[in-house]
Amino acid sequence: MQILRENHAQILCLCVYNPIEYDLLPLTVEYIMSVKTFEELAIKYPLLFQKAKIKALEIEDGWLHIIDTLCAVISGHPENIQRSIIYEQDKLTRDHDRISKLEAELAKLIEDLPVIAQVKEKFGGLRFYVYGGTEEHRNFIRFAEAMTYRTCEQCGAPGETRNTGWMKTLCDRHHKELEAKENGYRASPKKFDPAKLED
Ligand SMILES: [Zn+2]
Repeated sequence: MQILRENHAQILCLCVYNPIEYDLLPLTVEYIMSVKTFEELAIKYPLLFQKAKIKALEIEDGWLHIIDTLCAVISGHPENIQRSIIYEQDKLTRDHDRISKLEAELAKLIEDLPVIAQVKEKFGGLRFYVYGGTEEHRNFIRFAEAMTYRTCEQCGAPGETRNTGWMKTLCDRHHKELEAKENGYRASPKKFDPAKLED
C-alpha cells in the first residue's frame, strides 16, 4: 500500500528509473488475476486509486470482475509505456527523443485519469461516479454500468434486474434465495408480547 501514498511524480520515477522496483509493482502477473477486495483493486491500479476519493465499493462481490476490467481499460495500461521507456533506456544508443515522447505520453495518461468519487448500486445497476476523465473513459463506464444489469450482484453469474420490493439484479438462484428469505419474514411476523415489555 506504500505506493498509494506516493504522488504521481514519485510513481513515475519509481516506474521509469528503477527497473527492480518496477518489477515489484502489481502490473505483471497480478495484472491478469482477479481481485477479491477493494484493497486488492487499489493495489492493482495504483495510478487510478491514488487519485480516488473512495475507501470502499458500495456493491456486492458479484460485480467486482466488471469493475476490475473497467479499471484496467480506464488506466490505459501504463505498464506498457513504462516497459517501453525502460527498454529504450537500456539500449546502448539511447534515443532521447523517443524516451521524452514516451514520458510525455505517460504523464498525459496519468493527468487524464478520472477521479473516482463513488462506486455503488442503485436501482439494480452500477453507478461509477467520477470527476474529470475523457469521453472515452465515460463510454467505458457506461458500458460497465450496462453490463451490471445482466450480472448477478451477489455471484457474478448471468442475471436480470428484478423488482423484489426494491430493484436488484440477481441470478435465478440468488433471486429465489432472496424471495424465500422475504417470504420467511412475512410468514412469521413478530408477535406483540406484553410480558416481554421492559419497565
Ligand atoms: Zn447469483
